[in-house]
Amino acid sequence: MYRESVEKPYDFWYKVANENYHWKEKNFSLEEPKSILDYNFDLSKGPIHIEWFKNSLTNICYNALDRHVENGNGDRVAFYYEGNDINDNHSTITYKELLKQVCKFGNVLRKLGVKKGDRVAMYMPMVMELIIAVLACARIGAIHSVVFGGFSAEALASRLIDSHSKIIVTSDYGIRGDKLIALKQAVDEAIDHHCQDTGFTCEKVIVVNRMNSKIVSMDTKPSHSISSPQIHWYEKRDVFYNDLMNDETISEECQVEWVKGEDGLFMLYTSGSTGKPKGLLHTTAGYMIYTSTTFKYVFDYHENDVYWCGADIGWITGHSYVIYGPLICGATSVIFEGIPTYPTPSRYWQIIDKYKVNQFYTAPTLIRTLMKIGDEHVKNGSTRDSLRILGSVGEPINPEAWLWYHNVIGNGKCAIVDTFWQTESGGHLITPIPGCITTKPGSATFPFFGVQPAVLPPTIEPQTPAASEELEGDCEGYLAIKFPWPGIARTIFGDHDRYEKTYFGIVNGYYMTGDGCRRDSDGYIWLTGRVDDVLNVSGHRLGTAELESAFVAHSSVAEAAVVPCPHDIKGHGIYCYVVLKDHVDISEQKKRDELSHALKQWIRHEIGPVATPDFIHFAFKFEKDC
Ligand code: AMP
Repeated sequence: MYRESVEKPYDFWYKVANENYHWKEKNFSLEEPKSILDYNFDLSKGPIHIEWFKNSLTNICYNALDRHVENGNGDRVAFYYEGNDINDNHSTITYKELLKQVCKFGNVLRKLGVKKGDRVAMYMPMVMELIIAVLACARIGAIHSVVFGGFSAEALASRLIDSHSKIIVTSDYGIRGDKLIALKQAVDEAIDHHCQDTGFTCEKVIVVNRMNSKIVSMDTKPSHSISSPQIHWYEKRDVFYNDLMNDETISEECQVEWVKGEDGLFMLYTSGSTGKPKGLLHTTAGYMIYTSTTFKYVFDYHENDVYWCGADIGWITGHSYVIYGPLICGATSVIFEGIPTYPTPSRYWQIIDKYKVNQFYTAPTLIRTLMKIGDEHVKNGSTRDSLRILGSVGEPINPEAWLWYHNVIGNGKCAIVDTFWQTESGGHLITPIPGCITTKPGSATFPFFGVQPAVLPPTIEPQTPAASEELEGDCEGYLAIKFPWPGIARTIFGDHDRYEKTYFGIVNGYYMTGDGCRRDSDGYIWLTGRVDDVLNVSGHRLGTAELESAFVAHSSVAEAAVVPCPHDIKGHGIYCYVVLKDHVDISEQKKRDELSHALKQWIRHEIGPVATPDFIHFAFKFEKDC
């Protein structure tokens, strides 16, 4: 199948598209190859464009829900929801019920004036309402822009302004272990404080009352305690999700907006090597086909299996492999709101036993964390007998963690799929297919169907002409892809020029992944990490420039330089050199400690807890001391 997919890509993807999805208008044929794929990957020949099934009409929500209900599978479980709290906080939702909720929310959005192509932002914890909101947008042709709930108010604001999302769906709080995350408060701060004077106005904030918060007056500071959480309320702007959904005029049927293959589906921000995050735009048909095909083969999903991806929906893994891939394939999944160590480090493994999970997908950072805590938390109180496939994503997995995952979590009998991919790729790029590919611990192995990788020399200069540069056989260099796959992001929202320069401006005809790799003499690919100014902290991408500009926004900081350092658990730690302004006194250890602490808090506030620096190194100005 791989050979066919690269020798005859049009035939391969034609067959996949033709056999597996519902098209309102199927306007693609092999006689007209451009109706399947029309593209230019070579900047020297004109603007970059990638269009899959551009003349055909479909809807991804219809393919994820209605199709299964119409085929008689409405009573199948779509999600087992497991709450943060072990005390009976769980529920089940079938495909039929999920469709009903999505239709209602689609109607709610339409009633609020949302139309095809409008952007709707979400800043939510891992609750069913987030999945409902995402699918409702897709149903009515609106573009969803999910912002990870761990980002700060400031980071949220910059994403709201960039995407012009006039409606935000949020929650009073998120709950992680014994901590509340004040999401609504961050939305208030983003809109009132950071969006002011930018010309951007938010029209509605839809609030899921997850913790049953009480509203308190504006002059009272809201309590964030789990037993009595409180929020502020803006009468003209804020509205409760339940009030909208319980409105009797809201119908349970919602007409599908049939969209073209290349109509926008969602945007998702990721860090790049400049301070400004990039809103990558994914479109409908190619993404639909790619996420579901990768899901089907890489996780070897079979009817009645139970699948669980532990990623947050705020990242691409959550979009592709919590929501779209599994639902399009009619899968039954687990979604978990909490954290792996609460109330004990056995929580994940107990959930696996509880739902008899067959496929489990997580990140190396989590594997390393739980490995360090000790095997007894795995072995006591869970068997994990149901597991068949264990997936890894987010960063290179070191062989030690790979083997622990295999031997301890998988009882030595599960296939490990180390999936390399990115926000930009929509779905897996380099990955084993279980049962077909012999794995080597630490290698992501081979390309998925349709993916044509190339290793380019690290000495490459910008605007290099072409294929003569490709390295052969056993080699090490930059990982590039030389032919479009259906899941590739089509542009950076509002900045196609940046998209072209970042991904295609280095070697003509090649998409640059930004990652280094080694190919061994058996052809296996080993990812070696980012080659640009990007850190990978616990599987989360952070630009050094983004951190540096947050540092210099602090009143004590004159200059900053951020570099990665090896970190046992997180992959990359964050090491920061900071030059202070002349007036700042750090002559005593106590003052240094206090400032270091204050700067760490500052970065958490500016970007989010994921960006908390590990080391702050007070450096001196070159001209003064050298
Ligand atoms: P993001 O777009 O935020 O999901 O980050 C994508 C980046 O994470 C990639 O460019 C890689 O640097 C890294 N990455 C993701 N999965 C893997 C993997 N299986 N092996 C190595 N690196 C990975």
